[in-house]
This record gives sequence, C-alpha cells and structure tokens, in this order.
Amino acid sequence: MVHIQSLLYGSLTFALAAAIPSAATRQACNDITAALPGLDNVARPNSMRYNSEINDYYNHGLANLKPACVTFPKNALDVSKIVQVLNKYPDVKFAVKSGGHSPNEGAASVADGVLVALRDVTGTQYDAAKQVAYVKPGGHWFEVLAALAPTGRTVVGGRLGIVGIGGYLMQGGVSFISGQYGLAADNIVEYETVLANGTIAKINMDNNKDLMQAMRGAGSQFGITTKFTLRTYPIEKLWVGVRVYEVPHADFYNAFQDFIDNYSNHPNSATLYPLLASFDGIGPKASQADLQTKNLMQQAFDSLAGYSALRSEDYTAAFGTTKSAAAAAPKKNGTYIFPLLVNGPEPTSGTYAEMDKLPVKNQFGGSVLYADIINVSNAIWPLLGSMRTSFRTITLPTQKGNPGFFAEIESMWNEISAKHYKTAKGIVSHNIVAQPFPQAFGNESEARGGNAMGLTAKDKGRYVLEIAGLYVNDADAAMMQAVGKEFTDTLERHLQRTLRRNVLQASAVESYLPLFMNDAGSDQDVFGTYKEAAKIAALQKSVDPNGLWSKRAGGYKIRTGI
Ligand SMILES: Cc1cc2nc3c(=O)[nH]c(=O)nc-3n(C[C@H](O)[C@H](O)[C@H](O)COP(=O)(O)OP(=O)(O)OC[C@H]3O[C@@H](n4cnc5c(N)ncnc54)[C@H](O)[C@@H]3O)c2cc1C
Repeated sequence: MVHIQSLLYGSLTFALAAAIPSAATRQACNDITAALPGLDNVARPNSMRYNSEINDYYNHGLANLKPACVTFPKNALDVSKIVQVLNKYPDVKFAVKSGGHSPNEGAASVADGVLVALRDVTGTQYDAAKQVAYVKPGGHWFEVLAALAPTGRTVVGGRLGIVGIGGYLMQGGVSFISGQYGLAADNIVEYETVLANGTIAKINMDNNKDLMQAMRGAGSQFGITTKFTLRTYPIEKLWVGVRVYEVPHADFYNAFQDFIDNYSNHPNSATLYPLLASFDGIGPKASQADLQTKNLMQQAFDSLAGYSALRSEDYTAAFGTTKSAAAAAPKKNGTYIFPLLVNGPEPTSGTYAEMDKLPVKNQFGGSVLYADIINVSNAIWPLLGSMRTSFRTITLPTQKGNPGFFAEIESMWNEISAKHYKTAKGIVSHNIVAQPFPQAFGNESEARGGNAMGLTAKDKGRYVLEIAGLYVNDADAAMMQAVGKEFTDTLERHLQRTLRRNVLQASAVESYLPLFMNDAGSDQDVFGTYKEAAKIAALQKSVDPNGLWSKRAGGYKIRTGI
C-alpha cells in the first residue's frame, strides 16, 4: 500500500528552531566545507551570507528556521559532493532552495539541518540550432526572460519576474503563455539532475521515459536538478491593458465565469485573473507599526492596480470591510476592473466571450515586450518587507451552463474569511485568483510523453483557485491556514452538492481534479490527488532506495514505505 504524506517537517520545526544542531549535522557541515573549498561556499550562522540567505524567503516567517549551515554549490559537481556527504550522515535533514518562494515551512527551509541554496547555480543560454534554452535553477524568471529577449524567443516561465526558477519548474509551472504551450514542466526536454547516489544524470524522453514523465510536476522527489533544457517559442509584443465595467454584480461575475469556462476558445489570453481580495486586522487600537505595514500593503496593491487589477469594489472593501457591498445588492451597478493580456495584437471581438457582450465603460492598453510585462512585478518584492505568506489551492471543473457558481464562491469566501479575521492579531489579507487549467494542458502534456499529474488529451476544462495570504504577525499563522482550509473544504462539499443536483451533465464535467503543487498549502495532500501516485511511488523507491529525498529532504513527498 502506498502511504502518502504531505510536507516533511511540519509545524514542529518552529518549535525546534532554537535547538542545537546534532553532532552529525555539524560534522556534515564541516565535511561539505572541506569538499567545497572557497571562502563563500558554506556559510555559518551569524555570517552576512548566512543571514542574507535565510532572510530571503517570500514567506519571511521562514527566517525563523535556522539551518546549521547554508551551502552554496556552483555547479552539478558541487551538488554531487554535497549529496555524497549527506549520504554519510543518515540522520541529517536538509532542504533544497532555489528562489525560496514556496511559503510552506520546511519546503525549501530547514531548522538545524543543511540548506542547499542554489543561488549560484545560475545562468541562461540559448541554443539556436536546437531552439532550446539551458536554464539553471538559481535566480529569477526576469533574468531568464531578459537573457532570451534578444533572440526573439522565450520559454514557458513565471508570470511574475521575481519568482524563483527551480521550484516553479519542478512543481509544474503555469505561465502567461501556457494556454498555447502547456505547463512549464511539459516543456522540459531534459533534466540534469544529481541523483541520490551522487550521480549526475541527464534524464530525457529517449533514455528514461518513465522517470522523465514522473519528474514533470512531482517536485523534489528524485534529485536536485542543476540544469533544465527548455523548449523555446517565438515571442513578440503582448497586448496588455485593463477594461472597466460598470454593470450589475451578477452580470459581471457570470460573464467572468463564462470566460473562464470557455477559456479553451481563447488560449492566447492570460492564465491569471484576480477573483477576490480581502483585508482586515486594523482595529481602532492599531499600533504605529501596524499602520506603517498597512501603508506598505496599500502601496503593493496600488502597484498592482491597473495591471493585476483587483476589482475596484474589492479594493475598496480591502481597506474598509471584508464584506462586498455588491454581493449584498446584486442588482446595483458596481465598478469592475478586468485585466487583459493577449499574446498577439489587440484582443479581437470574441476574445473575452461573454465579457465582450457587457457594456465596456473604458479600455486602456497597448503592446508591451514580454520581458517588460514580467518585470512589472519586480517593484513589489521589496514592499513585502517582513510579510508572512501562505498558499492554498483547489482545482475545480469548468461548469458551462451553471452561472452563479463564481458568485457563490464569493459569498462563501466573504462569510468564512470574516469569521476568521475577527481573531486576527495583526494585519491579514488574501487574494484569490482564478487560473484557467484548460484541456489544452492535457493535449500538450500527452503530446510530449505526459507528466506526474497524469493530464491527458481527453481531459475536460478545469481551473485552479490560488488562495494567497499575506500577514504580519506569526500569531496569525494558524488562523491563515484555518481560513484557507475551511474555504477549500466548504467549496469542495459545495461542488459535490452542485454536481449531485444534476444541474450539469456529469459527463460534461471533469471529475479528475489533481491539486496544483506550486500553489498548494503545507498540509494539502497533493500526491493523494494524483491518479498515478502508486507508479510514481514505485519509481521513487527504485531511484532512491535509502530514502534520501523521501525521508530527509523538505517538500511534497510521496511515501514509499521505505
Ligand atoms: C509572487 C509569486 C508568484 C508566483 N507566480 C507563479 C506563476 O506564475 N506560476 C506558477 O506556476 N507558480 C507561481 N508561483 C508559485 C511558485 O512557482 C512556487 O512558489 C515555486 O516553488 C517557486 O520556485 P522557487 O524556485 O522559488 O522554489 P523554492 O521555494 O526554492 O522551492 C520549492 C520546492 O521545490 C524544491 N526545489 C527547488 N529547486 C529545486 C531543484 N533545482 N531541484 C529539486 N528540487 C528543487 C524545493 O526543495 C522545495 O521543496 C508564484 C509564487 C509567488 C510567491
């Protein structure tokens, strides 16, 4: 029987943060220092390099997890040497970090263990003859896209330039151009990966089809990848803008839902649409620090407005009450700002389906270079300062012919978040975005040999909700997890009830709904939702018989019974 577990090193790690590293861990750090001679290859607590690395997480709360040492390999050979040392010390835990953007405790962070930071394993090269790019896991997507921009080609990569590369690619990866070319993982042609025995392997469809398929979207199960060979595509300017509507709430939400449900008809449009936002935790006794943080968050929202575009009424709600006034009065006109992004010239009539039929109050936009769009987000990063963050996700089937589902999601969220936010100790906020996960992802995946999620060309439409939390006080960590969990649990039950009511023909709705690892919360059983979990587990066991990755490293793991 296959036992599934989600993240290793759960909430216990914070409690252990102040513990003293074991003698074996200290010795492993010493051995790695000897194996990687050089001034800055291994950093110890309180050094500048150590402090700067452990403070560089999207979830700043992870800085509380203090590794015994941070190692900075420069290439695959260095990684191999580290793996060989780790094999000598079976009780030493470790984590692999590329960009550090997973907000989940223990995924790319470790208390009292060895942190393998891939910051220096970096660089992008274009191979014109093969039309592929060689991309290393350190650094950020804006660097990759900037390096490729002069070639007129690009890769399926992050939608925000600040996002890390390694984890994004290992865990699936949705891009603005995924509607046309599929998931980022399905565009990986070859992995250069250090396996559990320290071997540096080149894994591709020709030499190991099963492993190649299993690695696409399975996270950090099989090794540390030091280079990705990625398919490239021609790219010119994208048309980016916003559309302003002043229409009744129900009209907007139903048209928006129709657009997501029919996304397959418009594959060159973006794959990310803000659905809801809420904000609370500032009471009459707000401290000076709280007010400062609120101003920072307001700036962060401001810099998004007009591009990522919160609905304007949500924006108001974000800084007033969490209850949407429009939800209470569905007939009243509200103002809605809808983001537009098309890979190509200006959107033509029909691109946005039912949304094109609503009266448009105003539309702004223009053609922008792809690399520049990705850079828009770079300014946000410093504004996040010391914010704590959380992720959670749910995969839903598109439901053509069932208008009202988005509005139901909204009222469900408002009720649940308002209840939990009452207990907030500091500022708390959530953004919920809808990401089309169309049938085209299955087409692209199957055409290239498949992935760990088991997507196929027979799939029907899905979309993924990402529930992204921002907060300032560690004391709110449990509440932030709880609000997300109650929301996804309630939504799941609601979906089942909706399907049972026979509003829709069951055969028209996708029933296989795997979770998207890149957006999942730490307690979500991602592999439990993968239909090929047993096959992946058997493969994992065969390449990692001693459980180096499955028992000792952070990240989502499939337990193999070792
Ligand atoms: C602001 C923001 C925007 C985002 N936008 C998108 C988006 O557009 N599309 C999308 O799909 N996702 C998006 N995400 C989610 C993002 O893809 C994940 O957070 C991902 O983990 C980021 O990659 P990373 O390199 O920073 O991962 P890390 O946090 O460094 O690592 C995540 C996991 O991957 C493992 N890992 C990392 N590198 C390697 C490697 N080389 N070999 C083996 N294992 C490795 C780590 O051990 C860890 O378990 C976004 C996240 C944020 C915070």
